[in-house]
Parts: sequence; structure tokens; C-alpha cells
Amino acid sequence: MKSKVYFVPVKDADDIKRVSERLKALLASSGVMDFIREEDKIAVKAHFGEEGNTGYVRAEYAGVICRDIISRGAKPFLSDTNTLYKGKRTNPKDHLDLAKSHGFTKEITGCKVIIPDDTNKEDTLDVPVNGKLVKTAKLARIFVEADGIVAINHFKGHMLSGFGGAIKNIAMGCAMREGKMMQHCDVCPEVNEENCIGCGECVKICPANAIIIVSQKANVDGKKCIGCGNCAAVCPTWAMFVFSSSGESVQKKMVEYAYAALKGKAKKRAFINFAVKINKECDCWGMENPRIGPDIGILASSDPVSVDRACFDLVMKTCGKNIFKEAHPEQNSQIQLNYAKALGLGSLEYELLEA
Ligand code: SF4
Ligand code: SF4
Repeated sequence: MKSKVYFVPVKDADDIKRVSERLKALLASSGVMDFIREEDKIAVKAHFGEEGNTGYVRAEYAGVICRDIISRGAKPFLSDTNTLYKGKRTNPKDHLDLAKSHGFTKEITGCKVIIPDDTNKEDTLDVPVNGKLVKTAKLARIFVEADGIVAINHFKGHMLSGFGGAIKNIAMGCAMREGKMMQHCDVCPEVNEENCIGCGECVKICPANAIIIVSQKANVDGKKCIGCGNCAAVCPTWAMFVFSSSGESVQKKMVEYAYAALKGKAKKRAFINFAVKINKECDCWGMENPRIGPDIGILASSDPVSVDRACFDLVMKTCGKNIFKEAHPEQNSQIQLNYAKALGLGSLEYELLEA
């Protein structure tokens, strides 16, 4: 069955007044947030942009969405999880400070920002998936326990998935650091001995008893390691860190994580994709991130697969070529869409309706 995807064109993503008007029109005519009821706690999944990054969806547009939710008598909060890599979004305090410096304040968005804490066990919820690659997803409790979820997704390129949109934002962005590493990592980590302080945190968390400390340095037994990535997620000195080179495996794990994060929310979800400021890499890049496509517009749907597919098709049509393949020739971005459809996350067929 075809899903409905609503669209408004945008010519200049930084024209705050005009884009806000367009966004309001999109929300009103699409009805994608009509599932929201009074008193619902609505998690608004955002990405506050790494320091130095300007591609993230502006706070003013998050404000339009949050105020629409508030006008329905519901209680939205903005949230994102912490990153694996060292940056300004690794822990709740720095992450909150950065969000504030990027304009995500109560004055602008109308609601508060909540960042889960990876060091507090209560903030993580294990959600069974029983997928081919993920048995249990390590998700932020705050997303799982919300009454509904509205995901604000920046549609752009990505080194492992070709492009990143709704599926990726939900999968990586609702996962705690342990879960993020689980998605990225599928090979045995190596220890950077210079950085290792022999604290033993990795030994404690390893579910496969694959690590021992020898002469004050961690030592991983590759035969026992199951590639879960837990050790890299807890290591305080970044001595263990490895990313998989397999885009296919990462994309499939992402889909299984998105499946877990959206469990029980089939009728309590909305995805708003901003196909503007289309950069080569994701918004986690706090460095030069070249623009590879023009501003196209904003799309909204209750189907995460259709909204990503429609975005991809619109980008192809506008640019006359696959700019994501050009940027990341080694990745096949369609794996995430096809696998998401196969898992029943949504449809590849859609009807595009201009709002
Ligand atoms: S990746 Fe997982 S199984 Fe392998 S050493 Fe690290 S914690 Fe243990
Ligand atoms: S957690 Fe990191 S620093 Fe601590 S022993 Fe393991 S590898 Fe070394």
C-alpha cells in the first residue's frame, strides 16, 4: 500500500520567516501530528549539530514543531543521545551547553532539552529485537517511554549509509552510546596501548569475558569477542575504538535499531525530513562539510521508509544524478530502505502530495 508523503518546497533554508510559514502549512495540511492527544509526552528527536557544524535543522524550525505540539495540549521535549566520539556532545552537560549555543533554548523552541546520561543505568532501556544482527537494543528510556515520537530529520550524505534521514536519525539517535557502538562496530576492537590506563572498565562490561588486563593494559581475545562494542563505549580514554568498514552491516543494524525504537508507536509517530543544506557528511562533523545538493524542501509522513524514499527520489530528480553515490561510491544507500521495508517498518511506495 502507498503511504502519503507531504511536501513543501524550500529555496533558502536560512530564510527563517518563509521556511517557518511553509513548515506551519505542511504541519496543518498533512495532519501528521494529529495522533497527539492532550497530556501526551512527546519526544521530539532532534540533532543539535556538532560544534562548528551548520547543517543541522535550525532551532527556530524545531520551535515551530514543538509549539504545534504544545497547542494540542501535549508536553513535548527535545532530545538526542550522546556521541561515541570525543566532541561537544559526549556527555549531558556539554551536549546541553552546545544545544543552547545553537539556539535550542526554551525561548526559541518553547520546550526543554533533555539529554540522557550514559553513566546512569536508569537512562538505558534494553528492548528485545531478536533481529538477524541485533538481539537487544540499548535505547534511551526517554524515547521508549514517551507516548509518541516526532523525529526532525536532516536529509544528507553519510559515510556508512550513503544518506541519512528518518531511519538513521531514529536508529542512532535513540540509542545510548553502547547501542551506537553496537551498530557501528562488528569486528574485534584493538587497544591503543598509549591511551590505555588499565582501569578495567572494559573488563567489567564485556559480556564475553574477552578482556584481561596484562601489565596494566587491556588485552582482547579475538576468539571470544562477539563484537558488541560495549568496551569501546565505556572506555574513558578512547583506548578502544573501531568502526566497521561494512556499510551493509551498519545499515541493517540501524534498521533493526529503528524497529526497536518505534516498537508500539505505529500510530504515534511523525517524521519530518528537511532536504536542505544537503551536506556530504552527517551533522556530527564539526569540520568542513561540503554542500553536495541544493535546498529542496521539507517532507512529512508517518512512514519513515516512505519519507526517506521520497526524499531520495526528489534529490535524484532535482540533481539529475545520485549525489550520494558520487559522495560515497562504496556505499549502497538502498540497503537501509529495502531492509526496513522487509522488516515491516514502512512502504517503499508513496504518494507525494504538495501541501
Ligand atoms: S567488543 Fe564486546 S565482546 Fe568484544 S571485547 Fe569489547 S565488550 Fe567484549
Ligand atoms: S576501559 Fe579503556 S583505559 Fe580502561 S582498561 Fe579498558 S581499554 Fe584500557
